[in-house]
Amino acid sequence: MIKFLDLQKINSLHRDEIMKSMADVLDSGWYIHGKACSKFEQEFAEFNGVSHCIGVANGLDALKIILRSYIELGHMKEGDEILVPANTYIASILAISENKLVPVLVEPDIISYNMDAGLLDEKITSKTRGVMIVHLYGQNSYSEKIGEFCKRKHLKLIEDCAQAHGASYRGKRVGGLCDASGFSFYPGKNLGALGDAGAICTDDPELALCCRSLGNYGSQKKYENIYKGTNSRLDEIQAALLSVKLRHLDTENEKRREIADYYSKNIQFKGIILPTVANSDGVASDPLSHVWHLYVVRTEKRDALQQALSGLGIETLIHYPIPPHLQAAYREWNHLSYPVTEKIHREVLSLPMSQVMPMEMAQQVVTAINSLVLN
Ligand SMILES: *Cc1c(COP(=O)(O)O)cnc(C)c1O
Repeated sequence: MIKFLDLQKINSLHRDEIMKSMADVLDSGWYIHGKACSKFEQEFAEFNGVSHCIGVANGLDALKIILRSYIELGHMKEGDEILVPANTYIASILAISENKLVPVLVEPDIISYNMDAGLLDEKITSKTRGVMIVHLYGQNSYSEKIGEFCKRKHLKLIEDCAQAHGASYRGKRVGGLCDASGFSFYPGKNLGALGDAGAICTDDPELALCCRSLGNYGSQKKYENIYKGTNSRLDEIQAALLSVKLRHLDTENEKRREIADYYSKNIQFKGIILPTVANSDGVASDPLSHVWHLYVVRTEKRDALQQALSGLGIETLIHYPIPPHLQAAYREWNHLSYPVTEKIHREVLSLPMSQVMPMEMAQQVVTAINSLVLN
């Protein structure tokens, strides 16, 4: 049996370091907003090349709080529009609608599966205030074209980095490319906690201060509340673990690259489209722009492929089976048509991928795929 992802193995790789860091928290007698959180925030800011990092409770909160801060600071207001890829995970979109902002869905391009920057111009209206890009499957989606477009139109550019810890664009890490970025440390992400956790990164000191207050009951000084904030904090125990795992992130992402490379060089099956490392501005493909959160293939025979692999003991997953605009939660969009997004959701399949997957397993997956006959 080849599992899609072996979380036990991923974490036990660093068991001794993790246990030590957790014992330190246990013995410290301080469990929220203490030294471990500040330490991780500092390390993660440095890692991403930004001046501010704020730990929060999860990735959805990170994105929600960024937008909420822009509202508090007067850059956005209820009813304003935020452009977001139509094929993203639902959380990116929920972060927008929960703030009573309006998500405007933009089709991805069928090569990178990231937002098609060429469509931004036609989607923009007098109410547009921001663009949220999503580095889907671990591949950077920022380009100078998007950056310049947002500057020219005075739009805030926000990155959803939940799937792309450590990826970069022209030598600069994602998370530091735009006005603000949100990260998730959900256990299955490339940098995963032992529960929920998230972070916001930015170079904007005013935004950073506002995000920090909003996540802490809207307070900067104990018992003084400036905003109607919320409780979204990064626990000491998760922060301590994340500090340990951050030290190994680049090495582990490299392992994922090796698996991806092996898949891409060896899968030979008619009708399967392999992922491409392609920057949306046509810059020569840079292997560091992808951290392979997921290795996603595409085929019209997706369901047959998944079933056949399952029969051979290989677990695969679909990211994601239903596009946001066809979800019951967004009933008001159900009549809309996003053909590229719909095609992607119909045809994608994620193969087993992780930093602890032995190369022999990747070989078994390839052998299995190459031997299949689907009808
Ligand atoms: C996981 C994920 C999120 C949300 O993260 P949580 O920590 O689960 O709240 C947001 N956006 C994308 C693209 C994700 O994959």
